[in-house]
Amino acid sequence: MQGHLSPFTIPAGAITIHIARRPRAPTAAMRVPLAADVTGDVLRRDLAGPFPLCQADDMRKYVIMGIQGSGKGTQAKMLAADLDLVHISVGDIFRWNVQNHTKIGAQVRRVMAAGELVGDDLVESVVRDRLTQHDWNFGFIIDGFPRDTRQAEFFLESYDIDGVIELDLPDSEVRRRVLNRRLCADCGMDYNLIANSPKVPGQCDMCGGELITREDDTEGALAIRLRDYHNQTNPVLAIFRRKEYVYTVDARPSPEVIQLQIRERLGLPPYKG
Ligand code: ADP
Ligand code: ZN
Repeated sequence: MQGHLSPFTIPAGAITIHIARRPRAPTAAMRVPLAADVTGDVLRRDLAGPFPLCQADDMRKYVIMGIQGSGKGTQAKMLAADLDLVHISVGDIFRWNVQNHTKIGAQVRRVMAAGELVGDDLVESVVRDRLTQHDWNFGFIIDGFPRDTRQAEFFLESYDIDGVIELDLPDSEVRRRVLNRRLCADCGMDYNLIANSPKVPGQCDMCGGELITREDDTEGALAIRLRDYHNQTNPVLAIFRRKEYVYTVDARPSPEVIQLQIRERLGLPPYKG
């Protein structure tokens, strides 16, 4: 969950490059210091270049969509882990900014707590900044974006997407999941007090941190988030469907079963957890 805490960080002094470009299955990645003699100039030039630069034929670019509590973050992390994709969660980026009292955090705090959507201009600039970091040599999976038709248009102007994963969950299940969700304040790991409760109540199994409730996981804020999902985000799925690359997966089974299904649909190798 490192990405949750510092979503802007490129691993210190290093960049990941491909050794082999084919087959598409992830192969060994090598970490090369930016100062390396042979590659240094090229890498430095790439890093300074315009947006977007990091695109190659064999990288995977996915969007994951789904209603609140459908498990986008969990599935995106599982997909990213062994395929070496960068997981970009717009919600995590904003939460990190709120937690760290940045200028962006101050701009979004109230809006988020109320369950409302952050303005498109700010969201687009955050996504653009994140994607220009060029740390996604094998590709990325983006979660929480695009959320309305304007964001979708902005995104599709710049990127060819390989697939959109839609996690399908009935509204009745959403409330049960979201209102029982808890997050570790330190590492960001999430828990569900019904299906996946911590060993010691109120304490993270991974790091011992305190478990907290997200400020927007309340009845009132959830109602607004669900309304916006149906009104504003469903039309995005319609746009993607017209391009025929939406893979809809049932979000009710266990995370492992869902991951298996996602990979089958996308023609990816099985999960190595
Ligand atoms: P959820 O999908 O459960 O609502 P997220 O963690 O994806 O949770 O997002 C949390 C909040 O962050 C949203 O309610 C909204 O305020 C803000 N946010 C995240 N992504 C976007 C986006 N693409 N456009 C506008 N606001 C966003
Ligand atoms: Zn923790």
